[in-house]
Amino acid sequence: MSFTDRVQLLEPEGAYFMMQKAQALEAAGQRVIHLEIGQPDFPTYENIARAGIEAIEQGFTRYTAAAGTIGLREAIAGDAGRRRGIEIDPRQVVVGPGAKPALFFPTLALVEPGDEVIYPDPGFPTYRAMIEVAGGVPVPVPLIEAQDFCLDLDAFDRLLSDRTRMVIINSPGNPTGGVMPMAALEHIAARATEYNFWVLSDEIYSRMVYDGSAPSIAAIPGMRERCIICDGFSKTYAMTGWRLGHGIMPEPLAERVELLLTHAVGCTASFVQAAGEAALTGDQSRVDEVMQEYRRRRDLLVDGLNAIPGISCRMPQGAFYAFANITETGQTADWLAEYLLAKAGVALLPGTAFGRYGEGYLRLCFANSADNIKLALEKMHTALGRIA
Ligand code: PLP
Repeated sequence: MSFTDRVQLLEPEGAYFMMQKAQALEAAGQRVIHLEIGQPDFPTYENIARAGIEAIEQGFTRYTAAAGTIGLREAIAGDAGRRRGIEIDPRQVVVGPGAKPALFFPTLALVEPGDEVIYPDPGFPTYRAMIEVAGGVPVPVPLIEAQDFCLDLDAFDRLLSDRTRMVIINSPGNPTGGVMPMAALEHIAARATEYNFWVLSDEIYSRMVYDGSAPSIAAIPGMRERCIICDGFSKTYAMTGWRLGHGIMPEPLAERVELLLTHAVGCTASFVQAAGEAALTGDQSRVDEVMQEYRRRRDLLVDGLNAIPGISCRMPQGAFYAFANITETGQTADWLAEYLLAKAGVALLPGTAFGRYGEGYLRLCFANSADNIKLALEKMHTALGRIA
């Protein structure tokens, strides 16, 4: 069968691939601890789930405007603006089924074939996929471990050109948990004006920060007209399967993205949007409680990883991932991930699932119980002892 080039290039997401392998082992009777997939292990918070159920009972089961209900767009504009210290008009907000449409559709709307798009490597695999589907040229920029996995700004400057149409940043970042400092964001914002490119800022983990906060590039003067914020409900409110996210962008672009949504998905499920409105306007204490729990697990996991010979791991400042350096084991990331699944029953991801600069690292998601994390650490310690 033959396919278009843009589809032929697509690859599966590493996390799903590893999860399937782990599930096959489980089906064969082996116990597996899942640290591969990036989703909260908590159920959706009670008040949000209830709002969704009530919305169905009240008949919120019909089409809505493609960009979302007025109520939800207003709630997002208010909440997102308050958190970032900026004014956001609800017409700048486009709601979609998950955060991914807020990455994919603005890219389709802005990137012409041959345009260059700079993105972080290691980085979320959808970035490369959407650039390629748009016909753009993916330009990966490495991250610097010693700087908490901030974008390598020297490499970034070298890779900029008059063909650079868009720059993608992700802070707090997947897969590293790194948070970009304001100075780095200011550097990128200054270049954006100079070179006239768009910034797509993936801020899906913006509420998942352990110390201080993650600044948003959108708050820097001059960025309003050239910045797209991608954010959503999946991580903060444990709503991965509901599919709810949004983009915030200049109005003319929001109108184009709404048209893409109209023709590609129609709209986001109306009762899901009602649940999202309840999430933003309701009590936020559960979000804080869950973050305290993630913090305990993060400390447990990172301390445990650093106690294993051959592994070193920086303390992630945000999200729920530890990105462990395994170069001293002398093994490749792919080999070690396969080995740990087979011999320790621990499913995690090789850094290479996030791009070539991910070689030498493993990503472990700590959205799992403290007991499972302790057990995974013991098993990894033993299994790695056998290859030392
Ligand atoms: N951006 C990043 C960095 C992510 O890690 C994810 C999900 O893992 C997404 C976007 C997509 O989120 P959603 O599931 O809401 O589409």
